[in-house]
Amino acid sequence: MEIFYMLFSDYWPVAIGIIAALIFSFVTSLEVDATFKKHNADYVDSKVPACDAARQILDMNGLYDVQVVKIKGHLTDNYNPRTKTVSLSESVYGSATVSAVGIAAHECGHAIQHAVGYTPIKLRTFFAPVVSIFSNSWMWVFIIGCYMNWMLLIEAGIVFFSTIVIFQAITLPVEFNASSRAIDTLIKTKILYGTEVAGARKVLKAAAMTYVSALLTSIMQLLRLITRMNRRR
Ligand SMILES: [Zn+2]
Repeated sequence: MEIFYMLFSDYWPVAIGIIAALIFSFVTSLEVDATFKKHNADYVDSKVPACDAARQILDMNGLYDVQVVKIKGHLTDNYNPRTKTVSLSESVYGSATVSAVGIAAHECGHAIQHAVGYTPIKLRTFFAPVVSIFSNSWMWVFIIGCYMNWMLLIEAGIVFFSTIVIFQAITLPVEFNASSRAIDTLIKTKILYGTEVAGARKVLKAAAMTYVSALLTSIMQLLRLITRMNRRR
């Protein structure tokens, strides 16, 4: 319904751009699942499960105070800098596959970024609370602005939304850098060998593409808001 409304009410190049971005994000999510599954059938020769791989990587980087825990869900893996915890999902934690080890190493990559003070992750952590407020309120501000025909509110809604786009753009180097740190440490620790490294790279690249598609979708959405604002002027 939303798609049809959008098609007939938007400037057509923007509508096509949004549909292309949505298709890209759909294909990307399928690709993430397929790549994860494919390399989750590849057991690593070192027989090191993801939880132990994470421990080794963290210790190698002097991060003895970062804990590794198991959490519920599928691909819910994350690193929390406040609690200094690498959380690995049930399908990753005890699994000694290329996919599981790759993902565990990626989350450790985030822990290392925090420890070494990697600038993009510092910016991301700093702006996260503000962006969270804006992402919950931009739409209301924009809609009320349109309803009251108050240009200042419409512009404020767009500025709020722009901060989300900037935040997503800062996320890209953070994610790609965590993955490259992950691959480096997996080679150094000899947890992965030869073709296993290429497999882990593919899994992490597919996962990173979800952040690229989220950014593209937001950029198209921003263009949509701007064209709507210009039409009102
Ligand atoms: Zn990440």
